Amino acid sequence: MDKTVIKNVKVITPVEIVENGYVVVENGTIVEVGTNYIGADAVDGKGRYLSPGFVDIHIHGGGGSDFMDGTVEAYKNITNAHVKHGTTSMFPTPLAASKDELVRAIKVYKEAKKDDTIVCNLLGMHFEGPYVSKNQAGALDPRYLKDPVKEEYEELVELSGEDLVRWSIAPELGGALEFGDYLKAHGVLPTIAHSDATYEEVTKAFEHGYTHVTHLYSSTSTIVRKDGFRHAGIIESAYIIDDLDVEIIADGCHLPPCLLKLVYKSKGIDHVALTTDAMRAAGQNVKTSILGSLEDGQEIIIEDGVAKMPDRTSFAGSIATTDRLVRTMVKQVGVPLKDAVTMMTKTPIRIINKGYKKGEIAVGMDADIIMFDDDINVSYVMVGGKTIIDNNQ
Ligand SMILES: [Zn+2]
Repeated sequence: MDKTVIKNVKVITPVEIVENGYVVVENGTIVEVGTNYIGADAVDGKGRYLSPGFVDIHIHGGGGSDFMDGTVEAYKNITNAHVKHGTTSMFPTPLAASKDELVRAIKVYKEAKKDDTIVCNLLGMHFEGPYVSKNQAGALDPRYLKDPVKEEYEELVELSGEDLVRWSIAPELGGALEFGDYLKAHGVLPTIAHSDATYEEVTKAFEHGYTHVTHLYSSTSTIVRKDGFRHAGIIESAYIIDDLDVEIIADGCHLPPCLLKLVYKSKGIDHVALTTDAMRAAGQNVKTSILGSLEDGQEIIIEDGVAKMPDRTSFAGSIATTDRLVRTMVKQVGVPLKDAVTMMTKTPIRIINKGYKKGEIAVGMDADIIMFDDDINVSYVMVGGKTIIDNNQ
């Protein structure tokens, strides 16, 4: 039997931080959680925080690679770059692209899933476009953006099988509501993204399965005036509809701390997921990079801790890692650590809603465990019971 005990840690649960705690892991599963461990052969956590591994539901790349590169090697670079910062599970997100490129992305994902040298859990793919609004393209390549095409999305969903779990779409586009119903019936979560939807359109979309908003405030509509009358957008809808979940890029650049606080206070930790939306340059020290595939991507610049389009008119994805999101929420926004961790673990797992036994330190959960200090410097990572990083021997 493969057994590990970690003692002398502050265990972070959604409700409290347990001092002098311990966790027992057997065969990849958490089998015991308690305090004041008595016994030999335990890993000494030396008073560090012990948390569920971080879960990133929207990520494009890192370590110099992008999921659009079309190789398993890219998956290795990305997972190796992010695992050091505490990410143990991720939902690889290819960018809006041609059908052929998305087909290739699905095939590579399936290959990567079978490769046991990949250190993070790959919990399913997330498509971002191409069925989104050109007006809200953000950093997506406008050449590919269009209304949903039934034959195309059906082919992609069928090819993906169980491996596609989420699709970011603008629900106001022609055929998007029918598309939402189709995805729901196939176990895929449709989410509102890169969209000019009004409150009325969001309400309709919600009835057709769109229960989540992709990176709220980034490429999402707000109040507009038409003939003098005001119309609410996605941002207001997120506050009005209690059960509409949201994700926020909490790198401290995409949203200032005051807006991060507004989302946290208004929606609560059960409806907010933190996500990196990280691109290729995450976990690298570079000044320029490429967004999207190496052959067909867009050149972008890195400055002020964020990726920008070359003309600096908009961001081009983040270079954040999950530890930075938690750090931003705690140090800049003033959110309690247990709440920031819940938004980085339990809530994203609940939003994707596929019955994963992840996101909490509790008996019966998968042993995806990390340890870090007061500044969220991650020094220990365990994925599925296997120690991947241990920097504090
Ligand atoms: Zn994205």
